[in-house]
Amino acid sequence: AREVHLASRPEGFPTGDNFDLVEVPVPTIGDGQLLVRNIVMSVDPYMRGRMNEGKSYIPPFEVGQALSGEAVGEVVASNAPGFAVGDKVRHFLGWREYSAVDAAGAAKVDPDAAPLGAYLGVLGMPGLTAYAGLLEIASFKEGDTVFVSGAAGAVGQVVGQVARLRGAKRVIGSAGSDAKVKYLVEELGFDAAFNYKDGPVGEQLAKAAPDGIDVYFDNVGGEHLEAAIDALTLFGRVTLCGSISNYNTTTPAGVRNLGLAVGKRLTLRGMLVFDLEHLRDQFVREVAGWIAEGKLRYRETVTEGGLDRAPEAFIGMLNGENTGKALVTL
Ligand code: NDP
Repeated sequence: AREVHLASRPEGFPTGDNFDLVEVPVPTIGDGQLLVRNIVMSVDPYMRGRMNEGKSYIPPFEVGQALSGEAVGEVVASNAPGFAVGDKVRHFLGWREYSAVDAAGAAKVDPDAAPLGAYLGVLGMPGLTAYAGLLEIASFKEGDTVFVSGAAGAVGQVVGQVARLRGAKRVIGSAGSDAKVKYLVEELGFDAAFNYKDGPVGEQLAKAAPDGIDVYFDNVGGEHLEAAIDALTLFGRVTLCGSISNYNTTTPAGVRNLGLAVGKRLTLRGMLVFDLEHLRDQFVREVAGWIAEGKLRYRETVTEGGLDRAPEAFIGMLNGENTGKALVTL
């Protein structure tokens, strides 16, 4: 069996040299564990943070050891009550062909209810991040004008549509290519969208939202966050979800206009999706319902060809090559 190790810590943007594909024995399982043959795995922006040394909300990956991340696979041996051979489970020991998973860290998924990849995207962690981050963290309410960055990605594509379906006055998105902008407006029903590479974000946002914005869902940080602070109305709310523009640089951008938050009485609130499990059932019910009714659409960018292509898929995602959730099939 094979797994992907961290070969070295990246300086700035990761390269293929930071990863090693290593041959290891298929793991043996102890009491209360499952042996899972992985079928599809997720590559996520937060993994870039774990490649750095240092203290964070989640421990760093170790050089010379396997990476990990969310994956869905099939149980091929079970030493745990409640799990049978053939069950499909979601767990956090991806980046390897076979995983020995504690039953407590595995959740069954229903392959008949949705394609397996959806459990890592629109109906999984990124979907919950979008749903809970908008409704709970930003206290979204009907009639709000909402701006989301990274809008054509796994989280962003759901944020904009939940806002639209829950009665936003206007939904605006930014993304890094014209094709993504087209996807947002023509397929997902955003009211306006722009390519942030076309010119200053502040100018483009002011055009797209002439009356300002009430909510900003921040996936990007830096210039986007500054532009949003400028555009926010009194008592505006910001979900600080991620700041991907700073993940691959050793000189992260500051936010120079934070002082405006005082007079505007803004709320800027950080979030981690792990705190928002209490909304999972409601999220799955509502979003799965919208998908079934054809009201909410999503894309996935699937890299086929197994674990050897996982580093390439991860780097591609950081470069914006994905639309919707970036996945790797094994
Ligand atoms: P995406 O599917 O959105 O993929 C990442 C995207 O980021 C790329 O496709 C690219 O799109 C965009 N991007 C890359 N570099 C830049 C840049 N310099 N400026 C602007 N955009 C850039 O990933 P996710 O939806 O999985 O994650 C989105 C954000 O949400 C990330 O910041 C992530 O860390 C965060 N997150 C936070 C969670 C939490 O609990 N707080 C949970 C899950 C995700 P483009 O072509 O538009 O540039």
